[in-house]
Amino acid sequence: MRRTPALSLTLSLTLLLAATASAARFDGESWWNIVKVLADDANEGRDTGSRGERAADDYVVARLRALGVRAAGSDGYFQPVEFTTRSIDEAASSIALVRHGRAAPVALGEDAVFTTRMPLAAAVEARLVFVGYGIEIDKLHYSDLKGSDLRGKIAVFITGSPADVPSALSAHAQARDERWQALRAAGAIGMISIQNPASMEKPWAATVLNRLHPSMALAAPEFSATAGCRFAASWNPAHAVALFAGSGHDFDTLVALATERKALPHFALPGRLRARAAVSSAAVSSRNIVAALDGSDPALKSSFVVLSAHIDHIGIGEPVAGDRIYNGAMDNGSGSALLLEVARVLAASPQKPRRSVLFVWVTGEEKGLLGSQYFATHPTVAASALIADINVDMFLPIIPLRLVTVYGLGESDLGERVTAVATRLGLAVQPDPLPLHNVFIRSDQYNFVRRGIPSLMLDVGAAPGSPEAATLVSWRRNRYHAPSDDTNQPVDLAAAAGFEELVTALVEEIANDPVAPHWKADSAFRAFAQAPGAP
Ligand SMILES: [Zn+2]
Repeated sequence: MRRTPALSLTLSLTLLLAATASAARFDGESWWNIVKVLADDANEGRDTGSRGERAADDYVVARLRALGVRAAGSDGYFQPVEFTTRSIDEAASSIALVRHGRAAPVALGEDAVFTTRMPLAAAVEARLVFVGYGIEIDKLHYSDLKGSDLRGKIAVFITGSPADVPSALSAHAQARDERWQALRAAGAIGMISIQNPASMEKPWAATVLNRLHPSMALAAPEFSATAGCRFAASWNPAHAVALFAGSGHDFDTLVALATERKALPHFALPGRLRARAAVSSAAVSSRNIVAALDGSDPALKSSFVVLSAHIDHIGIGEPVAGDRIYNGAMDNGSGSALLLEVARVLAASPQKPRRSVLFVWVTGEEKGLLGSQYFATHPTVAASALIADINVDMFLPIIPLRLVTVYGLGESDLGERVTAVATRLGLAVQPDPLPLHNVFIRSDQYNFVRRGIPSLMLDVGAAPGSPEAATLVSWRRNRYHAPSDDTNQPVDLAAAAGFEELVTALVEEIANDPVAPHWKADSAFRAFAQAPGAP
């Protein structure tokens, strides 16, 4: 029987689709199986320097060995990283607001929490000054600090920035070290951060649940960018009214202005803050994992495209619904597993990328991007050989993949490259849809940016206001940094596979192009490439 032309066309289309499907390099399934290993209860939430993190590290290294992807750390596949912990004994600590000679105690946990990521003096008493957003951006001639007398005082600010500050620059100015350097230069001895409730992803109670867990800092003295700080706290915005009482300014009005990204006033707050902090410390060791797939081009192989993901999570903490293990399946078992899958596919590919690819699993991300800071400062290959970083952190394949969110999209020509690759794969891209959430500085790519290396982070995206966006928001509210970020949650394996293909194709695109990525002329981060320091 002869086929009609129409049938024939249908059949050819079917065959074509089948051929495309059989050529797919990822199925999502093998990725999820790796996530299941990394996020297993046996790994106890992979806290930095913990037994569980070491077990996850050893698993990654065993896979790399089996794949034939070579070691590129300073100690085989590893790069040791040393930390100092800081823990607060709340029962022996206190904060009080002193007004008219009376000290009103602040309820720790409920009203405010000490920020143990910053150094805390045993005893502090100081005046308070509200400094708006508390940021300084030389490039835009913007300063919240000039004109206020901050000498010996504690700066109080609401997170965010005015509308005319581009989101990446806004995120940079609000980075912990960056902000502290500006406050310290203005004479401040401490800071109180009040998060704008409009940019809070989780309720206050959930964010402070594990505040007694030790925080960490890199042990080497070269990393002490927070020196000079004597007091740091985060204040519950729902209880900030008392802080502003008697100042002539209403906190809710300030929040409304900040939400619209309007200018904020600057003024002294009445009274003084009195604090006692009982802090203990200990030494902890962990390690980054570094592996390399050598490039195929004799001239280009000495340069590296970095693919990074943090392997640590937050460990065992306060129970939520009876579960104490914070498995970190999406955060960031997902990215860690993706790197292994990309390594598997590229190692087996008949056409190796022309440049080399460096796979870096960093530790200490949850402690403040510390492992990546260490690696970017002391790379295990020549610093000048690192031409780009693509970072993957909690990419959330829990909705169908049609749109990709690209952090840093407008900053370098990596933006055009990822757009071209995505278009080829039938995907659309969008810039950071929630610039107030500071995602650009909240993962490891930021430390590469600070060393002048063009970088991007990619996530599965959703159009603002869409039902998919609501799914992502609800995930962040309920599962982010909670024990329920485990492998019992729903996942879209097709979305994961599509995302793996996108990242792989992007890495190949960069690695095969003899022209290295570069910052845009108008990017604030270009200055880092010219003189590592500040834009
Ligand atoms: Zn996290």
